[in-house]
Amino acid sequence: MNALPGRAVVSLEAIANNVSRLKAMAGGAGLMAVVKANGYGHGMVPVARAAMAGGATYLGAAQVYEALDLAVALGPDRVPIMAWLYGEAAPIAAALEEGIELGVSSVEALTRVVTAAHITGRTATVHLKLDSGLGRSGAPASLWENLVQCALAAEAEGAIRALGMWSHFAYADAPNHPTVVAQEEAFTQGLALARRLGARFELNHLANSAALVTGRPVAYDMVRPGIAIYGLSPIPEQASSAALGLVPAMTLESELVLVKPLPKGHGVSYGHIYHTACDTVTGLVPLGYADGIFRSASGRAQVQVAGRLVPQVGRVCMDQFVVDLGPGARESAGEPVVVFGPGLNGEPTAQDWADAAGTISYEIVTRIPQHVPRVYSGQAGL
Ligand SMILES: *Cc1c(COP(=O)(O)O)cnc(C)c1O
Repeated sequence: MNALPGRAVVSLEAIANNVSRLKAMAGGAGLMAVVKANGYGHGMVPVARAAMAGGATYLGAAQVYEALDLAVALGPDRVPIMAWLYGEAAPIAAALEEGIELGVSSVEALTRVVTAAHITGRTATVHLKLDSGLGRSGAPASLWENLVQCALAAEAEGAIRALGMWSHFAYADAPNHPTVVAQEEAFTQGLALARRLGARFELNHLANSAALVTGRPVAYDMVRPGIAIYGLSPIPEQASSAALGLVPAMTLESELVLVKPLPKGHGVSYGHIYHTACDTVTGLVPLGYADGIFRSASGRAQVQVAGRLVPQVGRVCMDQFVVDLGPGARESAGEPVVVFGPGLNGEPTAQDWADAAGTISYEIVTRIPQHVPRVYSGQAGL
């Protein structure tokens, strides 16, 4: 057993239910469950299995090495896996041997994939990526026609199958932002051009969680939600998880390792940014920024102890933080602490911590390091 007095309990049932709810929102489109970054910190392989149980038709990893780990762990009984980031050292040939599909943003990347196809004797299934406006990966509009033509030439000689095109939004969390419509139009035009050139695209995809839950009519053949399958809202200013019918899957639990009285006016933790307002009782939680607790949330967050919300006070340290349990508190060491959870029993959520830390919920869950054990709950078989 891991000796760290903290653990992330992940409900696989919540993930499966979130996936089936999101799939219903996508109409008849397929659903790629995005499980990059170790399943957004929840554990890539268990999340992938739960997502498949919930009806995911694809799994998406970012890095090729993640996709390889996933393919090996899941074995043959799986939906297709797609990966889209690979540096010079990435094992492309091994990925093709495992049947992993690849995103391709440039002729250079296509050339590498074609070379790996020749080495392995496999036909690589690729998804051509258009930069419809995000300005990150993908071929810019000026290079799109050339990329499609090169891909069609490689397809004609049997090295690849260009299964579809895809792109990614810059502003999907602000559905009325003018870039959203502009990107949709760029995607439609890029698709029309590819078809005129002879592309037989069957699987085109654009929508992330935010585009899906805000109801943009951009499902095409598949949607690619990440954060929403973990039950976190991609648009927290507009709709909570509960309003979207999603249940956050992760609960970060710990315990008090020390409870003690402190007199009024006593400074707490490094820099004494907090002083006790009265004679009080403090508790020590053995999780710090090395365990994924954001230092930038110092003094702004709450945790749940014995069913009540108590403030986190003073600076968050490397391995620990302090809570003010209040005057006369009767908890003792060993008392369970919920740092965040689904929020269904009054506990704070990952979104609350994101607000306190000045970041997004994505960063709260993905920053919990590997040494914090993941414990799975949910239906047997998931
Ligand atoms: C991470 C990612 C997604 C999922 O995004 P969410 O905002 O988590 O839904 C979809 N597509 C691509 C290309 C991504 O990198």
